[in-house]
Amino acid sequence: MAASVCPIDSQFSDQISALLKSPSPHQVQEYFQELIAKRQYNGLRVKPEGEHGKGVWADFDFKEGDLILKDQMLVGAQHSSNKIDCLVCSFCFQFIGSIELQIGRKLYLQELGISVDNECGPSNRTECSSASLNNRSPLPQDTIKSLMNGSMHLPCSEKFPLPSVVSCPGGCKEAYYCSESCAKADWDSFHCLLCTGKGSKSSNIEALLNFIQHANETNDIFILAAKVISFTILRYRNLKVARFENLEKQDAANLCTKYGFPLLLEAWKPVSMGYKRRWWDCIALPEDVDSCDEAEFRMQIRDLAFTSLERLKEAMYDKECEPLFSLEIYGHIIGMFELNNLDLVVSSPVEDYFLYIDDLPLSEKKEAEKFSTPFLDALGNDYSICCQGTAFFPLQSCMNHSCIPNAKAFKREEDRDGQATIIALKPIPKGEEITISYIDEDLPYEERQALLEDYGFRCKCPRCSEE
Ligand SMILES: [Zn+2]
Ligand SMILES: [Zn+2]
Ligand SMILES: [Zn+2]
Repeated sequence: MAASVCPIDSQFSDQISALLKSPSPHQVQEYFQELIAKRQYNGLRVKPEGEHGKGVWADFDFKEGDLILKDQMLVGAQHSSNKIDCLVCSFCFQFIGSIELQIGRKLYLQELGISVDNECGPSNRTECSSASLNNRSPLPQDTIKSLMNGSMHLPCSEKFPLPSVVSCPGGCKEAYYCSESCAKADWDSFHCLLCTGKGSKSSNIEALLNFIQHANETNDIFILAAKVISFTILRYRNLKVARFENLEKQDAANLCTKYGFPLLLEAWKPVSMGYKRRWWDCIALPEDVDSCDEAEFRMQIRDLAFTSLERLKEAMYDKECEPLFSLEIYGHIIGMFELNNLDLVVSSPVEDYFLYIDDLPLSEKKEAEKFSTPFLDALGNDYSICCQGTAFFPLQSCMNHSCIPNAKAFKREEDRDGQATIIALKPIPKGEEITISYIDEDLPYEERQALLEDYGFRCKCPRCSEE
């Protein structure tokens, strides 16, 4: 089998290598200094050239249990399969609607038979959904509808208020928000080119639908990559407006051909801080693939990415940003999420709700359960599923690994959105590097090293050096 050839790769090879050039230590420092100042992440410093490349250092004495950082994602997305279980804001990922809507919607979608067990890949979809249906006792359609339309109230649900649902301004039935401000921020930064509604700015909605379908059937990491491309194109357009605002149209067009590429480089800068390797080079070889078939496997992954890219290009092509549609760039963007060690997780208020009922004083509990238990039975074991996805967190991604980390990603009671929360595990004095563990650090030495190999390094942390 011959590898597919992307014509943009050769046509724009100079621009592509400029885009993929690692930012200089000076650029890294400048970018993160600005980010830290803008978001007021006090007490942190990014050093561009530590022993393991860039790293995050304490600029402040942290006590054990202190919040080090709430890192706002650059781009993130809920997993396609998780959308059945949880209705969340497409921008900040907090749960929206009401406890009743969350439960009713999930039961409704389950009834339609499109539920997918979270542990399963696309290949064993049917097997899983029938298995997980076994422990459920279905409810009548009318009951489910009245949950969804707000005419039925569950006892004590007012203790778990959720923001009301705001629809996508483009009119798609895919994206929902917790507020007008999240809707606008998502529209301006990502969604206007990826919306399938009437107001979409996509150049070809049919192609966009094709792209989304392909991603849902193969790997939803492509949706994230599309968000990165959309983000870069929109940033480019904004930079262009700012730069050429006061010029006549013709002059601006001429200048743009000449100076357009530096603007694209500038628009791309936040992403350039994140990628390391191409997806097909860094993806871990699945256990069922023999090592002698490795080259073939990597080529298939590359081809899969190319198929996805072709569809995306048709959906949001922009001549001035053409190098972004090269397979090289696409591979690096996807690779950025493949090696990302922090998932997007938001715990479910539905789980909290049922735990709250379970914890009520006995008489109240009995009363409430008369009403709530049929819903819990109908949901089965899935009642507690949280919002899950993948995201890129700029500062968290700079934190180096240690098998005896001094910090960890940990969501507290009040962390109800998609931001990454990093907490100090022990006192961290000013001037010490902040480390997290990319893997389960309780594993034995050999297993830890094998897992870290996927991240492209051998760990030499104090614990590994000793063992
Ligand atoms: Zn929101
Ligand atoms: Zn939309
Ligand atoms: Zn180690």
